[in-house]
Amino acid sequence: MREILEAIEAGAGGEELAALALPDHYRAAFVRREDTELFAGMASADKDPAKSLHVGDVATPELAPDEAYVAVMASSINFNTVWTSIFEPLSTFGFLDRYARESTWAARHALPYHIVGSDASGVVLRVGSAVRNWRPGDRVTVHCNSVDDQDPSAHDDSMLAANQRIWGFETNFGGLADLALVKANQLMPKPTHLTWEEAAVNALCNSTSYRMLVGSHGARMKQGDVVLVWGASGGIGGYAVQYVLNGGGTPVGVVSSPEKAELLHELGVEAVIDRKAEDYRFWSDATTQDESEWRRFGKQIRGLVGEDPDIVFEHPGRQTMGASIFAAKRGGTVVTCAATSGYMVEFDNRHFWMKLKRLIASHFANYAEAYAANRLIDQGRIQPLLSAVHPLKDVGAAARSIHRNEHEGKIGVLCLAPREGLGVDDQEKRARIGEGKITLFRRHGS
Ligand code: NDP
Repeated sequence: MREILEAIEAGAGGEELAALALPDHYRAAFVRREDTELFAGMASADKDPAKSLHVGDVATPELAPDEAYVAVMASSINFNTVWTSIFEPLSTFGFLDRYARESTWAARHALPYHIVGSDASGVVLRVGSAVRNWRPGDRVTVHCNSVDDQDPSAHDDSMLAANQRIWGFETNFGGLADLALVKANQLMPKPTHLTWEEAAVNALCNSTSYRMLVGSHGARMKQGDVVLVWGASGGIGGYAVQYVLNGGGTPVGVVSSPEKAELLHELGVEAVIDRKAEDYRFWSDATTQDESEWRRFGKQIRGLVGEDPDIVFEHPGRQTMGASIFAAKRGGTVVTCAATSGYMVEFDNRHFWMKLKRLIASHFANYAEAYAANRLIDQGRIQPLLSAVHPLKDVGAAARSIHRNEHEGKIGVLCLAPREGLGVDDQEKRARIGEGKITLFRRHGS
């Protein structure tokens, strides 16, 4: 890949890149099938991603007609890489084996290793014979919705496709590598004012938050809405509060430290709750929730913004769902996409039905939603949340810091990019949007 990197750095055009030979192996981060039982019997919190994530050489897979090879300049760590690396809630090799049964091309994915990573920025090197809209040399970001567009169920909302998968989580050949294999309908133009690592951290979390709050399949936030956002300085939460501010709503951000609260204030979020400082205990023991704590929480929100939330942006799951359902306004909406603290959620149905609330399930985003969210980044209306950068060889330590909730925003990973700060195509636009806005999380993280 060295020759390819040198050509990209020298500004080689598409024809020149297309003429370069592709290596038959490349560097990638992966988990091994033989390690599936590595953490058997351990508590989730004690499972260390650095023990199961390896970086080494893997064979270059064959290219299908509807796919592209991307030289990955940078990628990011998502929580799904934590799930893969601790083999929870299911072993990743079950996903790959099931996928392999679908077609000859899909069979490439069932290997003794799983290359992880669901974000990337980079340069297209080759496209398959059926690809029309992209060509070698295109500078791109990659979203992670992998669907077969010959499946009729993919054509209303592709997130409803029977064979919808998350690339680099439920498929192989992900973005935490020097080369990635993607379907052409995962490609989006790289925002021209961002560095490779700033461009790499957005697609998964930003698109998820867009669908949850803005898109027609989510909570459809309106101007003036009060939106309670859990984990508001984290990956999806940090984009969510920006959507609320942009859309004329009032975010109430929940975080767990004064530093994170300060970061939110700098981002423009006035109402912030430090859940640790307030010592909220929604569960009095492993099986009982404490309604008086829900009431204390609701009262604090009213004290801050004068009313109950129209929308609750939910993802911690078991620890918070009872409080989220309780806190939502009469007729309000709880939108959820995850369950970091446990997926067997419980809430008091009386508060739910008597106050006519709604619960919406959301999962990543379709191509149109991801494209719209990427466009907002390109316009400088939504800022990247890059707070730290690691080289690919340290991917295990980076995933561990997310697992331990030691980070803010998003962690970027340099793959082919030799250092931070490269890849900006439009410096004038960057200056217009404002270095201070673009790098807010990075300054906090450094
Ligand atoms: P992050 O780790 O960046 O942020 C999550 C935040 O949630 C943490 O920073 C923490 O904030 C908060 N949190 C964690 N545990 C609790 C708890 N017990 N109670 C209250 N708050 C808690 O992760 P992401 O934002 O990237 O992802 C969040 C979840 O969403 C993950 O489970 C991920 O897998 C899932 N996800 C799902 C997607 C989908 O398409 N379905 C897409 C993207 C993510 P603090 O400590 O400051 O309160």
